[in-house]
Amino acid sequence: MKGKVYIIGAGPGSYDLMTIKAEKILKNADVILYDELIGEEVKKFINSLNAIAINVGKRKGKHWADQSKINELMVKYASEGKKVARVKGGDPFIFGRGGEEIEYLAKNSIEFEVVPGITSAIAGPAYAGIPLTHRDYDPAVIIVTGREARKNGRLDWEVLAKLNATIVILMGVTVFEKIVKKLLKSGKDPETPVAIIEKATTERQRVITGRLSNIIEIAKKKKIEPPAIIVIGKVVSIRDKTINFLKFED
Ligand code: SAH
Repeated sequence: MKGKVYIIGAGPGSYDLMTIKAEKILKNADVILYDELIGEEVKKFINSLNAIAINVGKRKGKHWADQSKINELMVKYASEGKKVARVKGGDPFIFGRGGEEIEYLAKNSIEFEVVPGITSAIAGPAYAGIPLTHRDYDPAVIIVTGREARKNGRLDWEVLAKLNATIVILMGVTVFEKIVKKLLKSGKDPETPVAIIEKATTERQRVITGRLSNIIEIAKKKKIEPPAIIVIGKVVSIRDKTINFLKFED
């Protein structure tokens, strides 16, 4: 019997935001390799199952389990004929390394299936009451990683500043100040509203808002921590008008 790997997006954290398909596959999996970012509720569910469950996102000393180790584990278990669920936060193909993993699986002749998840890039703003698009505002949404900024890489922030687009930043907390300064220097309107959504969709969700001109100060004062989604764009202002009527029920 041949094994198979399921590359699964578990959604942004809240158990209810995982898909029915993901839940079904997890219940039938022999081995579950999950990331730290999947959220406590999903972790609890995974650990209540009979499968071998391994947290491959756990810090080992100073390092995270590296990607090559995860790749090897997937191939090892699938080669033994097992159903392997590789579970990631949000969507596996949005800054989730799902692409690298399917390349590796294909190279090793392992069959796979991909189960999309609700990305935090969309769920975070939604749970904060921020519509990423609105006809009165910018006609585009762009999702970027903050990690590039550190290396002064391929992201052209000057171009981003000039695009009429809502900018959604993942992995942006540690480089937040740098990004804001770059956008301001590149001519982005200092009045542009900004929201930071920390631990989105979980019980500990926190939303911090400001404008490009003062958000660095506010973020410092509030001590923002990862994981967080940063939204820069006029659509953030809709939250102010609607937030009193945004009610979630369990
Ligand atoms: N594949 C994931 C993203 C992985 S990159 C997805 O689609 O959501 C990791 C980054 O995702 C974090 O640095 C943070 O910016 C964001 N993130 C993931 N879950 C989050 C959550 N619950 N709240 C806020 N940000 C989150």
